[in-house]
Amino acid sequence: MTTDPETSLWTKTSRERVDAPPLTGSVTVDLAVIGGGYTGCSAALHAAQAGASVCLLEAHEIGHGGSGRNVGLANAGLWLPPAEIRAHLGDAAGNRLIALLAQAPAEVFRLIRDLEIDCEPVQAGTLHLAHSPKGLRDLQTRHQQLSADGAPVELLSAQETARRSGSTAFHGAIFDPRAGTIQPLAYVQGLARAAQQAGAAILASSPVQALRHDGEIWHLDTPQGRVRAKALIQATNAYHAGLPDTRQAYVPVYYFQYATDPLPENIRATLLPGGEGCWDTGLIMTSFRMDQAGRLVIGAMGDLGHAGSFAHRGWITRKLAQIFPALADQPLKDGWHGRIAMTSDHIPKLVQIGPNALSAHGYSGRGIGPGTVFGRMMADSLLTGEPARLPLPPVPAHHESWTGLRRAFFETGAALTHLVKARL
Ligand SMILES: Cc1cc2nc3c(=O)[nH]c(=O)nc-3n(C[C@H](O)[C@H](O)[C@H](O)COP(=O)(O)OP(=O)(O)OC[C@H]3O[C@@H](n4cnc5c(N)ncnc54)[C@H](O)[C@@H]3O)c2cc1C
Repeated sequence: MTTDPETSLWTKTSRERVDAPPLTGSVTVDLAVIGGGYTGCSAALHAAQAGASVCLLEAHEIGHGGSGRNVGLANAGLWLPPAEIRAHLGDAAGNRLIALLAQAPAEVFRLIRDLEIDCEPVQAGTLHLAHSPKGLRDLQTRHQQLSADGAPVELLSAQETARRSGSTAFHGAIFDPRAGTIQPLAYVQGLARAAQQAGAAILASSPVQALRHDGEIWHLDTPQGRVRAKALIQATNAYHAGLPDTRQAYVPVYYFQYATDPLPENIRATLLPGGEGCWDTGLIMTSFRMDQAGRLVIGAMGDLGHAGSFAHRGWITRKLAQIFPALADQPLKDGWHGRIAMTSDHIPKLVQIGPNALSAHGYSGRGIGPGTVFGRMMADSLLTGEPARLPLPPVPAHHESWTGLRRAFFETGAALTHLVKARL
């Protein structure tokens, strides 16, 4: 097992590359974007395609944040079932968000095709797996709500779930044919490369250290340069750093993953033969998927960067053997983690951070489709001056209380669960 939790398997296997130099000197643009993940790169791409001058500033390298570390499940919708989204947002805003995010995977896979992004796209659907009888009851309710909204989802029996997943550990599943898997880092690098080709300036190693509006224009300072911009998008999500006034808040929650070596063909043929990506109904949930080379990538909630992380490693090894007994002796090689920006209601937040300036954050672990859609729509709204084109009504600020304590609560809960559950 590798020990650097900041380096993901995806950095080793991405076939997309974007040459992004640091900002030097001064530039003046229509739109400045802070953050080189899905949200920022989608905003830069769509702004450049619309003919605007745009400059994206990334503190590290493109995909440094959640976009380069995630599971790669390109899902439809949010974590919440539709009724809960409507309960939080009201019918009008809730229905609009549900409809927009229902087509999010289609938008992601269309961009991948149109821009020829080399990111292992497999639009073979996802399986939301019931880890217990109660999990199955939850899935039945979710299935009813999704079907009533016209989503083409299917509730699978335990036998059919076993056939598709290759595991008898589950009680049933929801199959969503709209969704699929991608190589997450390659997707964001491809978006950045396409934005560059459309005319956007994509600048890495350029942390924004100061930000101000002078009444007419935004000024952004990096160590070696300065940007003046009419409009601004802050797309820093859970990796926000270096800017004091965020006007956004979230609970940072860690999620880790390990990958096997490419599996022998005889074993590979029995696991996920249809190519679906999976996650389960566990409170401390587990996800798994295959990559193109035939590695099984399995993950769960937890931080690999502290002394107690041995509990996570031990647990995931046992979990792998429980789900797939044929993999009991497979060593887990690359291990890494990433930070999720969680909000209490699990609904992403659009914040008006100033004149002609928006920030999006809090995708709560589901940002591939939503980040792509929110980035596009924020750029469109700012460039046309039409707030009605936003996916959600923006709020002046978003606050979560006790974020440090709640982060510790999640991590301690995950570590204890992983330590105590010697038998899964
Ligand atoms: C382990 C893990 C698993 C996940 N699994 C899934 C999944 O399977 N499916 C799914 O849909 N979602 C998943 N997610 C969520 C998804 O990855 C995120 O919601 C999404 O990547 C957010 O994209 P973003 O562009 O908003 O932010 P990010 O990708 O985090 O990008 C923000 C960027 O801003 C930069 N930045 C911060 N401060 C500054 C500054 N001052 N100046 C310049 N740049 C700055 C950071 O360096 C970073 O690169 C997962 C997340 C994690 C961590």
